[in-house]
Amino acid sequence: MGSEPHQLHAFFFPLMAQGHLLPIIDMARLFASRGIKVTIITTPLNAPLFSNTIERDNQLGLDISVQLIPFPSEEVGLPQGCENLSSLDNFSDMAPKFFKALDLLQKPLEELLQTHSPHCLVADMFFPWATDIAAKLGIPRLIFHGTSFFSLCLLDYLRRYPPHENIETFTVVGLPDQIELRRYQLPDLSKTSSELANLLQRARESEEKTYGVLVNSFYELEPGYADYYRNVIGRKAWHIGPVSLRNRDIVDKAQRGNKASIVNHACLSWLDSKKPNSVLYLSFGSVASFTASQLFEIAIGLESSGYSFIWVVKSNDEIEQRWMSDGFEERIKGRGLLIRDWAPQVLILDHPAVGGFMTHCGWNSTLESVSAGVPMITWPLFAEQFYNEKLVTQVLRVGVSAGVNEWSGFVGGEKAIVKREDIEKAVEQLMGGGEEAERMRTRAMELKEMARRAVEEGGSSYNDLTALIEEIKLHPRPAV
Ligand code: UDP
Repeated sequence: MGSEPHQLHAFFFPLMAQGHLLPIIDMARLFASRGIKVTIITTPLNAPLFSNTIERDNQLGLDISVQLIPFPSEEVGLPQGCENLSSLDNFSDMAPKFFKALDLLQKPLEELLQTHSPHCLVADMFFPWATDIAAKLGIPRLIFHGTSFFSLCLLDYLRRYPPHENIETFTVVGLPDQIELRRYQLPDLSKTSSELANLLQRARESEEKTYGVLVNSFYELEPGYADYYRNVIGRKAWHIGPVSLRNRDIVDKAQRGNKASIVNHACLSWLDSKKPNSVLYLSFGSVASFTASQLFEIAIGLESSGYSFIWVVKSNDEIEQRWMSDGFEERIKGRGLLIRDWAPQVLILDHPAVGGFMTHCGWNSTLESVSAGVPMITWPLFAEQFYNEKLVTQVLRVGVSAGVNEWSGFVGGEKAIVKREDIEKAVEQLMGGGEEAERMRTRAMELKEMARRAVEEGGSSYNDLTALIEEIKLHPRPAV
């Protein structure tokens, strides 16, 4: 039993990858802010990504603690220190080992559950076995997928009604909106390792047996899909986002995730010198990387667009592939800012000078853009990012597509998929102040307001979390 009989105790077990870990940490803090005792389970090299934030929360009286379990790098043939998906330098070789290591975490997690007897377990979808160990202890397991209701519905729909093999472009008609998709934008199994494919299959199977699903979204963003997911697909789900809004002050926003390579003050004063909505922010998430030729096209497209920009560039992209055209950084000085490896994204998006986000449509980035009222240029690469793109461009209509028609996997293909002219065109479309761009900006601002209201007391996400907490309180406790 928990230490105090009436205090709920929740365990959070995030996948070791920024796109899953950061929202789960935000969620854990959100639960703690509602009086719940929270324990986060992670590995030694992932804890520093959020330990300062948790310390600040503890000082404010929130009951959050962290339990470490070793990451079995050596057992699966990974070098020491590889404990996070974004720390794999040879993705195709190392990722299968990383996914294998995840299964070895079952025993230490089970032992911790037995020792602490929490009231529920929130575990990432990448731990399919978590459903069974929670069931053994008689506690609810809640899954976190890290994506939208829209993508979950589309994924389910396409699994049940796969498009005909010979059709290149098709329309999904069975969901609340008609969605146009291209065949090559669907996940490509030939570019997915068999370990990952197997893990995803097990995740799907475990979802069917699991207690419920936590979604980082808010009802007003995708009401038709939230309803469809619950009523048609028939899953128990709670929307409690946008969870990144839990980061309210500058320190929380600036310290979210890895250590930024730029001093926050330098970044903010650069932005302060720019006019409202005049800067395009470009980032493609924590895992993806581009080929030299694609980076070169982006550089030239940005340079010729004439707009101000902040571009997050991976230093291994730059060093290994020598993509930077001679003198590029010099020529764009004052107008363009390159940030190496990790930028304080939420801080940047919230700055009034930022008027557009060129994004790979990872769900966190998409939702953070929505929460900041920033319209997008969509450039999906892998996973369910093409689905998120369709939500942004076809349903919410707060973004223009960069025109990517092919699922490329984590590392990108050989060639440049989007040419400099198309990049320049998309940037002009969004940043150029045309009528449609202004309409998108207005819609984005309306969504921002809705997002903020959703997480305030009495808002839809606030209320859904209350409902979940009440339900867990009523869940019968196993005899110990
Ligand atoms: N992020 C950040 N700075 C960066 C890159 C990423 O703060 O330079 C954060 C971003 O705010 C988001 C997460 O990392 O919360 C990335 O998640 P997303 O789902 O967008 O993409 P993924 O990394 O999973 O592909």
